[in-house]
Amino acid sequence: MHRHDARTEQLTEAIVQYAVDRIRMDPVPLDGPRTPAELAAACGPTITPEGLGGPAALDLFAEVLAPACISVDHPRYLSFVPCAATEAAVLFDLVVGASSVYGGSWMEGAGAVYAENEALRWIADLAGLPPGAGGAFVSGGTAGNLSALLAARWHWREAAGGAHDRTRGLIVTSAGAHSSVAQAARAMDADVVRVAAEPSGRMVGDALRATLDGLDDADRARLLAIVATAGTTNAGVVDDLAGAADAAGAIGCWLHVDGAYGGAALAAPSVRHRFVGIERADSFIVDPHKWLFAPFDSCALLYRDPDVGRAAHTQHAEYLDVLHDTHDQAGGPAGHVDWNPSDFAHHLTRRARGLPFWFSLATHGTQAYSEAIETTLAVAHAGADLIRASEHCELVVEPELSVVVFRRRGWAPEQYQAWTDRMLASGEAFVVPTAWEGETVLRICVVNPLTTVADVQFLLDSLA
Ligand SMILES: *Cc1c(COP(=O)(O)O)cnc(C)c1O
Repeated sequence: MHRHDARTEQLTEAIVQYAVDRIRMDPVPLDGPRTPAELAAACGPTITPEGLGGPAALDLFAEVLAPACISVDHPRYLSFVPCAATEAAVLFDLVVGASSVYGGSWMEGAGAVYAENEALRWIADLAGLPPGAGGAFVSGGTAGNLSALLAARWHWREAAGGAHDRTRGLIVTSAGAHSSVAQAARAMDADVVRVAAEPSGRMVGDALRATLDGLDDADRARLLAIVATAGTTNAGVVDDLAGAADAAGAIGCWLHVDGAYGGAALAAPSVRHRFVGIERADSFIVDPHKWLFAPFDSCALLYRDPDVGRAAHTQHAEYLDVLHDTHDQAGGPAGHVDWNPSDFAHHLTRRARGLPFWFSLATHGTQAYSEAIETTLAVAHAGADLIRASEHCELVVEPELSVVVFRRRGWAPEQYQAWTDRMLASGEAFVVPTAWEGETVLRICVVNPLTTVADVQFLLDSLA
């Protein structure tokens, strides 16, 4: 299995060819799910004592399994948050897999971690975080939010001298926050208090302050973090980050900014002003696999003071402490001398998953990123104009970033669902309904620079 021979040679060619063909496919097929019974019937047994052999296993993937997965890079995949990785990023993902890099420690992965830190630095600079800011790439926003909030909890306990009575914390966030914030709170056994959002879904400073003022003394002592959202997933609305930073600063509370989706727009001059205040965050996340054209999975997690992240997350064990010795000697992160990504999140072993993003950024330059993000913003806003002008559809929220929420006048939930099912079955588009103030509506999220205004027009025509 581990030695190269004539059979693996043949398989190498087939796999590389398959990968290259898939990367270059234009148009990509939308494809769609099948039931377990259908897949079982189509595949037959796949795990056998003798093995199927590489060509047969690859055929199975190519003919049966891959077509049962929706292509997230299809230009009319507009549900959730699509993923439109650059060719450079996807190709380099193959290199990362081929390179046998352990991305958890500086000792083992210095070159990879250096490059990842360059990419993190670009994001930190866009946000206006100080030169000492840093962190690591984790699997996604869910992992990033949890890790940041664990650091916030460590900070909250330390602030009280490591007080043992600081057991059950409290997180204040908005109604528009992503579900992963509540999930992190559940994992941490913390409570969540929600600030009432504006009709647009935005959390403003006054409402946040009113919520904080309304906490009793016991709850105020339990407050471990305020979480603001820089681009809500459902509507793409950016919270009042300056107001959140003011409110957090006034009471010395940790401010975490969840920019998993929207944080990428820091690179877009046309909307950069919406993020004022983000430079005061204690921690911040953005997913390159959402709007920064990297393949799954990748979330940039940044701490204003990485020492807090390190204190909260470093694992100690007899066999691991060798990784930390250089840090003690070098005295800090300045030269990244022993910058161990494993120290900054709830993980240890890790793929150097920031590398595909770094490679694409290094290849194309930051200007190309700004332009590509601006392209998607322009398409989303032109799409919103089409909706405004349409007879049968209307906007539900004014789009700020690249999410557009709209209703098909007169439709009941079943009609939306039937339309969604029809569009997926025909391979024409993947757009699922969402809810807005209890009403079933449609939502598209444009992060693929290959999505065009004509694609939005196509959807509107099909809704007529
Ligand atoms: C997508 C999203 C998350 C979760 O990120 P995953 O990468 O899916 O784990 C968290 N917060 C926001 C605002 C998001 O849009």
